[in-house]
Amino acid sequence: MKSRKRLYEGKAKILYEGPDSDTLIVHFKDDATAYNAQKKAVIDGKGVLNNRISELIFQRLNDLGLPTHFIKRLNMREQLIHKVEIIPLEVIVRNVAAGSICKMLGLTEGEALPRSIIEFCYKDDKLGDPLISEEHITAFGWASPQELDDIIAMTTRINDFLSGLFSAVGIRLVDFKIEFGRQYDGDMVRVILADEISPDSCRLWDMKTDQKFDKDIFRRDLGDLVEGYSEVARRLGILKEPNGKPKPSKPVLVKSD
Ligand code: UDP
Repeated sequence: MKSRKRLYEGKAKILYEGPDSDTLIVHFKDDATAYNAQKKAVIDGKGVLNNRISELIFQRLNDLGLPTHFIKRLNMREQLIHKVEIIPLEVIVRNVAAGSICKMLGLTEGEALPRSIIEFCYKDDKLGDPLISEEHITAFGWASPQELDDIIAMTTRINDFLSGLFSAVGIRLVDFKIEFGRQYDGDMVRVILADEISPDSCRLWDMKTDQKFDKDIFRRDLGDLVEGYSEVARRLGILKEPNGKPKPSKPVLVKSD
């Protein structure tokens, strides 16, 4: 098999050259990082779950006519995607107070927000992804005013879609982070959803118990992360087995008294 050219390796994903000049292959790793990579671990099975969960969400968004970079899943860990120029923004949507907004504004975790809030952070690990305003984005040219309008309109639709998708399976979408990119097609350029949407980039709580099914399990040592991500996959109908563990292929000896 021809070896593929690795273009970029990030904290949780690797990007390879695709079969065409306008496509790439993204590989989901098992590496988990938190607090700007100060906390690290390898968690067996995380990449497979994120690949499947992100596939389901991006495919549904494509079907709704919301443009994304997703083309198709290739295997357990890889997707074929459209090549984009990443816009250096982390777009965060908050429906319920959690994480950095609690620290910043003295809110209590779990407090309902007056309405959904969109925040922007400048994507720069060295600076710790600082919170910025729309003024910074257009003044520094990270996105044009038209692109920013498109990003906000798409983000609002994505939040409506995701909130419904998760609430239908008893999960509260507390907050999430998304990224966008520019797709070039001849003289045309358009902004499309890129990166991933998975329990790595969302806060997902059980609606009845507030149990966490997202990366806070790792950030705060709350238990088994794969268990939490598997629960999300199971409720979305991706995983059939409890815990995501395959059924034993051989008969299992049952102890009798
Ligand atoms: N988030 C992310 N990547 C980041 C920062 C945040 O995926 O680099 C997600 C995070 O998982 C949460 C939401 O964005 O779902 C809001 O994160 P917050 O600003 O509260 O930061 P955190 O508390 O995660 O540091």
